[in-house]
Parts: sequence; C-alpha cells; structure tokens
Amino acid sequence: KMNVYKFGNKTADGNTSMKNLLGGKGANLAEMSLLGIPVPAGFTITTEVCTKYNEVGQDATVAMIKEDVEAAIKNVEFIMGSTFGDKENPLLISVRSGARVSMPGMMDTVLNLGLNDEVVMGLASRTGNERFAWDSYRRFIQMYGDVVLGMKPESKDDIDPFEEIMEALKHKRDIELDTEFTIQDLKDLVYDFKEAVKKRTGHDFPTNPWDQLWGAVVAVFDSWNGDRAVYYRNMHGYPADWGTAVNVQAMVYGNMGDNSGTGVCFTRDAGTGEDVFNGEYLINAQGEDVVAGTRTPQQITKLGSIRWAELAKVEEEDRVKNYPSLEELMPAIYHELNGYQQKLEDHYKDMQDMEFTMQDGKLWILQTRNGKRTGAAMVKIAIDKLKEGSIDEKEAILRVEPNKLDELLHPVFDPKALKKANVIAQGLPASPGAATGQIVFFADEANKYKNTILTRIETSPEDLEGMNIAKGILTARGGMTSHAAVVARGMGKCCVSGAGALKINYKNRTLTVDGHEYHEGDWISLNGSTGNIIEGKVATIEPELSGEFAEIMELADKYSKMKVRTNADTPKDARVARGFGAQGIGLTRTEHMFFEVDRIKAMREMILAETVKGRKQALEQLLPMQREDFEGIFEAMAGLPVTVRLLDPPLHEFVPHQLAHQKELAEDMHISLDAVKAKIVELEEFNPMLGHRGCRLGITYPEITEMQTRAIIEAALNLKERGIEAKPEIMVPLIGTLAEFVSQEEIIRATAQKVFEERNDTIEFLVGTMIEIPRAALTANLIAQRAEFFSFGTNDLTQMAFGYSRDDAGKFLPIYIEKGILKVDPFEVLDQEGVGQLVQLGTERGRSTKPDLKVGICGEHGGEPNSVEFCYNTNLNYVSCSPFRVPIARLSAAQAQI
Ligand code: ADP
Ligand code: MG
Ligand code: MG
Repeated sequence: KMNVYKFGNKTADGNTSMKNLLGGKGANLAEMSLLGIPVPAGFTITTEVCTKYNEVGQDATVAMIKEDVEAAIKNVEFIMGSTFGDKENPLLISVRSGARVSMPGMMDTVLNLGLNDEVVMGLASRTGNERFAWDSYRRFIQMYGDVVLGMKPESKDDIDPFEEIMEALKHKRDIELDTEFTIQDLKDLVYDFKEAVKKRTGHDFPTNPWDQLWGAVVAVFDSWNGDRAVYYRNMHGYPADWGTAVNVQAMVYGNMGDNSGTGVCFTRDAGTGEDVFNGEYLINAQGEDVVAGTRTPQQITKLGSIRWAELAKVEEEDRVKNYPSLEELMPAIYHELNGYQQKLEDHYKDMQDMEFTMQDGKLWILQTRNGKRTGAAMVKIAIDKLKEGSIDEKEAILRVEPNKLDELLHPVFDPKALKKANVIAQGLPASPGAATGQIVFFADEANKYKNTILTRIETSPEDLEGMNIAKGILTARGGMTSHAAVVARGMGKCCVSGAGALKINYKNRTLTVDGHEYHEGDWISLNGSTGNIIEGKVATIEPELSGEFAEIMELADKYSKMKVRTNADTPKDARVARGFGAQGIGLTRTEHMFFEVDRIKAMREMILAETVKGRKQALEQLLPMQREDFEGIFEAMAGLPVTVRLLDPPLHEFVPHQLAHQKELAEDMHISLDAVKAKIVELEEFNPMLGHRGCRLGITYPEITEMQTRAIIEAALNLKERGIEAKPEIMVPLIGTLAEFVSQEEIIRATAQKVFEERNDTIEFLVGTMIEIPRAALTANLIAQRAEFFSFGTNDLTQMAFGYSRDDAGKFLPIYIEKGILKVDPFEVLDQEGVGQLVQLGTERGRSTKPDLKVGICGEHGGEPNSVEFCYNTNLNYVSCSPFRVPIARLSAAQAQI
C-alpha cells in the first residue's frame, strides 16, 4: 500500500474499488483516467495518511509523505507541461477533500492554488489574459482565507470579510456584478484581501506555493475532526478512523473566456428517473459558479433547454440567442460529453452525477459519482436498469433505499411552487407529505375551515379526532415519537413536530416566529418530508404510484420470507395497508375507537361508574360499536390474521379535562359536577405510563375484557355467516408475569366459549400477549406455556428498558444526541445493543418452551429498515408497522435476506 496514488493521462495507481483508501472522489478520478476519460492529472493522499495524521500530528505526517508528494507533483508537471510555482509557465492545482462517502462538513475545495504576486504575472502573460489571471488570484486568496485560514464566518448572519471588501468596492464603483470589476479593481482586491488576512490571522498570506499546498492538505485532514463532520459522522454511525483522502489535481480553467466554461450533468433525470441526459453549464465560469446561482445556468441538451425556456417563459428567439444549449453552442464538445456520460453510466451500472470543465475548447471531466435521486427516481432507475439487463433482481432490490419509498406514497408539493416558498421555520420531518391549510389551535376546531393545520404546543389522545380532520399537524414540542408524530404517521398524515422556534399562545390564538405573528385562519403549509414550515399556500399534487413501484414490491416479496403486517385501528387504514401489501394486522389498538364523539361518552360513563352494574351498563352501549369496528376491520383483512389488543391506556386519558365537557358529562350521568371532578382527581396518577393501564385494567375490571372479547368473537362469527373468514388473535397488553396473562386468558376463553354456545357455532382464534415489560421478556419461557403468540411492543419495551418516559424524552433526547451520548433516538431506531437483547432473549426463551411460537414486533420500529433487518436476523415471523410504512418494511425484509 502506498501513501500517494497518482492518476492522469489514461493511467492511474488506484481504481474505483479502492474507495475506502482513496475516498469516493479519488477512486473515481483514478477509474475515469483508466477508462481513457480526460481528467486533469493529479494524485490522492490516502485516508490512512489522515488517520496517521490524527495520531502523530503534522510534522511527522509531512515528513512521511513529503517525498511521495513531491514526486507526484513532478508527474503532474510532466503530464500538464507546466511547473508548480514557476514564474513563466505555472502549474496551478486544486486541493479537494474526499471521504468514502460524500459528507457535509468536510473541507471545501481550494482552487487556483500556487499563485503569488510573481506567479500571477506569469499566468497572465502565458495565457495572454491578465483579467483571468487576477480574477483567479483574488478567488484563490478568498478561498484559501475562508477554508484553510478559517476566516469563513461561523454563522449565516456574519459577513465574510472578503465579501465585505468586495461589496464596499462595488458600492464605491457603483457596479453590481463581479464581472464588472476592472483589472485594476481585481488587483486592488488582491491587495485588500491580503491585508485582511494579515489583520485577522496575524500572519502574511503564504506566498510560497509549497507552504500553500501543505497548509491546504493539513486543513483537509483537520476538517475530518471539525464539529460539522463529527456531528454528521455520529448521526450516521461512521467511525472516526475512516479519515478523509486529499485530492490534489491540476487546475483546468473554465474562466478563460468565451470558449471555456464549467458545468454539472446527470446521466438520467434525478427527479423522475427518466432516461434523459441533462444538466447545466455556464460559459466563462469556474468551480461552483453553476450551483452558486449568481448567473442563470444554461441547459446542456437542446431538449432540456426548450423545456427550461417554457418554464422560465423565455421566447425561442431569446433562448437561442442568450441561453443556447451546449448541444447547440458547442456541438463537438457536447458530442464528446455525451459519449462519456454513456460510457460512465454503462461502466458503473448506475445513474451518474458528473462535473466537467471546458478550457479553451477542450473538455475535462472532474468528477463522477452515483447521483442522488428522489424516491421515485430511485425505483424507476432500479427497474429500468434491471430491464436493460445491466443489473440482476437482487441488485435492483438493493438499489432502493427503503425509507425513500415514503416519498412515493404521500401527496406532494408541486416542485414549481416549492421553489418560490417562504420557509418561516424548521421542525422535525415527523410524518412525510405535504399539507396546506388554515391555522387552528384546538382539536375541536379542526373543522372550522375546509383545510386546517392543527397547530399545537403538543397533542394528546383527546386531540385524535381533530388530528384526523386536519390536513396537517404542527407541534412546537415533541420528537419523532411524540404523540403527534406517531399518530400522524399511522394516519399517513403530514406532520412537522418539535419546531422549537414557534411560540404558540392559545389564549390569543397566535403563533409567533421570529417576531412575526400569525393568527388563527392564516394559511401555512407543512413539508413533512423536510420539516419545513412555509408561509401561505403551496400547491400539492397527488402522487402517482408507478408501475415500477409495483414491480419492485413484487420482487421484494419474492426474496423475503418474513411477513409484514400493519398496525391499523380502522377499516380504512386496514384497506390502505392491504393495498400496500400488508399480510395481516399486527396491532389494532382498541382504545382509539373510543375517542369518537358518541363513544367517548359511553366510555366516560363506564370509567366513572361506581358499581360493577353501572360499568356493565356502559359497556353494553360500547359492545355493538366495538363489534361493528371489528367486523369492518376483519372484513378488510379477510383471510388474513388480525391481532387485536385489549384496552391499554390509563383511564385518565379518557376523562374530560375541560369544564364544559365535565358539566355535560355530569348532566348525562345525572350526577353532580363535583362528583365528576372528584372522580377525575381520583384517576390522576403520578406516573400513568407505569400506572393503572394494560392488563391491569382487565384484571381490576374483568367486565372490560369480557366485553371486548365478546365483540371480537361475535364480529368474527357474523362474518363467518356472510362467508368471510376472520382470523382474530387476541392480545393481552403489558403483562409482566405468567399469572397476569393466565388471569386474562381465562376470561377470554370463558367468554368465547359462552358466545360459541349462544351462537351454536365456533371460530378459530389465538390468545397471546405483548412483550413490552422487561420481566416478561426474561420469563418468556414461562409465559409461552400459555401464550400462543408474542408480539414485542418495542415502544414500551424501549421506554422501560431505558427508563425514558416516551412523553418526556423530547426534553433531553435531542441533547443526548447532540452530545453523542446516544447516536439515534431509540424510539425511532431499535436499540439493538440493549433493548434488542430483550427481544432476542424473549424470542429464544419463548421458543424453548414452544418451538413454533409465532413472534412479531408491533412497535414503531417495525417500519424502520435497520430494525427490520434486526427482526429478520432474530427470526421473527413478522414485523408490523403503520400502513404507509408497509412498503418500506417489505423492501427492508427482502434486503435483510439478500
Ligand atoms: P465538492 O465535493 O463540494 O463537489 P469538488 O472538489 O468537487 O467539491 O470541487 C468544487 C468545484 O471545483 C467543482 O465545481 C469542481 O468541478 C471544481 N474543481 C475542482 N478541482 C478542479 C480543477 N482541478 N480544475 C477545475 N475545477 C475544479
Ligand atoms: Mg464535486
Ligand atoms: Mg404498549
């Protein structure tokens, strides 16, 4: 292994398989050179040198690679026919960082390195272009100052010292554009820039090109341990010892005049996946000018140019004259570029994102990589590549990031409208989708306007109905598993949560952001995929589920044996999920049915009843409603198993907290308001999540379990009469001991038996339990003596294993993650190290008693790709997730198996 790998002139020491050592950029530069594609000569200092640097420091590292770097520069000089630091015929270079994966936070590229007061004269006379030489020089000092000498402002609000100087000069000269500077202006800027460097750093700007080079190399290494890079690394779990490579490369100049330019291009459409070559370029420009957006870039293909002109409302005549495509303007170069893009895509068997520069009529390719793309493009390209025969089925499945599928399922903002949007604040992208509506602050006012955005500090189960009505949900507090987020995802409803910058005043019905006040009825829009909160209306479009989507899903099922079920509380959700390919229901939360207006009353009467008789009366009102719900759900899932969980939440969640509702209840029940209030106080718990909930309810009030069992069994029998097969699996929540389970199981079986006798008919059903208390996992071998299935409720299991209250974790989890104490939110991604052990152990112990015990998972994790992979490896029979996550889980399950 070497420390420095050369490339250029159709040869290279490295190749694309060496991404770990050379970084993505370096490995691909080497590969392109080998493919005979013109890349400016250069070399890559390896990631291992970076790691070494972190151990031994600057001096030892420089000593270690000095000779290699000098030899590599010689090689570049030889190929390019110019000399680094030479006053007559200078070689200038770029210094580019490049880790294995492209990573924000790494050092920005420095261009035009090697210039000083003498070399700039040489560059001017050699190229006969004084303006170009001085423009390059001032760009270099600015970039070097910002990037290497740390003069770039930390926050967006601070001003770049160099920009400040340029602005002042523009003001003085009464001009607007950089291109309007005279040569003398550029010379003045160089002088002032150097003064600014001296003032800020206390040192003169380095004039020796070799000092400049080593300074830049070290700065690239240092950027690997910069705050932003470390943060990003931690977030993705990339280890610190990966390091970054440094790419040093001969400059080619796109800013040498009208026969030069620079651009970026994609071998396919990154938005739609369509197989059309596309991209943008600028004449007489360098580096990032195209993306920086100071000038309007032009399209590469004629077709693209015409499409662009339509959107930009540019007349054909104007287009041809002022914004011609590269295809029209420089047909020979276009032809060459088109050949390379084809060659690179065929070679990498994937859509490429490329950078190129034309210098005085000669084309150079500066970068290629697999292009980033939308979920829709990802699916289409995978299937198209499969059909072209360049990849096989397994590869096609692996090409799609499961989480990206979400984008395909929810209504989306019209990209055109989004471009003009005014983003007022940022929250968490809690549930994808696009929502536009008028602000309301209270759930029971969610239907005050036709389209509403329910805007809350946080939501509670009481808000459920309103959340269902609203087009989108916005909260100031709460994380990705806050009530609002979980419920919204379940509903497939757009939600942005935890937007800390929002000040919500319920009393005045105002929302304040950055000193700007919004009122009830004002229009806002939420982008649930990005967390953006946008002022006013933004047009949305319905997503179209493409044929390719169906094809990739079919392939996924072909390669996975683990089943995917859904969490669904309503027939509608069940149908949606079945449409997405759910193979049953893993969790029906019966309490959600009780929050509807007419039912909550009966529910409250049941809770407030002082006697068993009173409670039974109230339950009798609920029975037909529950039975009807179950019939609907069983019918939607005909022939497939449906797991129904018995009542779970603390009763306190059901009682009215507003005085008006308390009064109403008192009247309905013919008791005093004080009695209602007293009961509510009595139900209050210090720690409701650990309080009177789960099977503890069914144990203290067996008649609840009886009613629910009856509703389930009767519903199944009713369907049987109609020739529809229902397969109920009754699930007891929150058990910690075998005895708890047995007590409920006996009631369930006795009740079922009673109904069978009454109806003189039977159906098959299972009785099992959730494993969500650590004790249950530990004693799973005992519990499996009676339970017919397990379902890991990993939300509660995580809560109890960590001892983090799910509803309060939003206060400290973000800080934990920021400080690196946790890498990710364990309520989002299953903690395999700790909580995962309980799942593993519970499964093993359960199956030691009952080898064929059916085991699944029904927490939020069931739709999270890493967690799905874990479930596959733990031999679970199925995962269950919210309807809109079903495709994600199906794909993840296939990927885990491949
Ligand atoms: P990033 O990883 O942010 O894309 P790059 O290293 O690719 O950074 O470079 C930033 C810009 O500078 C790109 O537009 C690239 O094409 C351009 N660039 C980099 N090296 C050279 C070079 N040797 N000659 C001309 N342009 C270059
Ligand atoms: Mg680049
Ligand atoms: Mg639970």
